[in-house]
Amino acid sequence: MAIKPIVLHPADVLEQECEDVTVFDRKLSKLLKDMYDTMIELDGVGLAAPQIGVPVRAAVVDIDDHHGTIELVNPVIIEKRGSQTGPEGCLSFPGLFGEVERSEYVKVQAQNRKGKPFVMEANGFLARAIQHEIDHLHGILFTSKVTAYLNEEELEESEG
Ligand SMILES: [Zn+2]
Repeated sequence: MAIKPIVLHPADVLEQECEDVTVFDRKLSKLLKDMYDTMIELDGVGLAAPQIGVPVRAAVVDIDDHHGTIELVNPVIIEKRGSQTGPEGCLSFPGLFGEVERSEYVKVQAQNRKGKPFVMEANGFLARAIQHEIDHLHGILFTSKVTAYLNEEELEESEG
């Protein structure tokens, strides 16, 4: 188990286009495992490799539902539909939350840690988490999409 320090904003590695993963080896498996351990330790629902200082196109998402942990290597959104607006945060911006509009549905093509391609679909909160993480791989931070920042009270209300 290896928990890595989170790169906090501002940092160049958070705002650059990440490199494609081309080698599916033990080093990649270790990176994904470290990302998972770090995400769980910090109670996150997703983590992108640049957030632990590695600018490659890999992300993990786990919203604690029946999908379990989703590992996305070289993910691409190939279809999207609808829209949803809701509160969002980011481990690279501790304590900061804001309303962000995202697609309600996404279809994503990606590879697993062995390089095997797969396609997955997601709706609602899972779709939101996936879009947030894929943005990270392009150096796009949620703060560039926030329409209104939320204080703690407003956040609790929106979480119901
Ligand atoms: Zn984030």
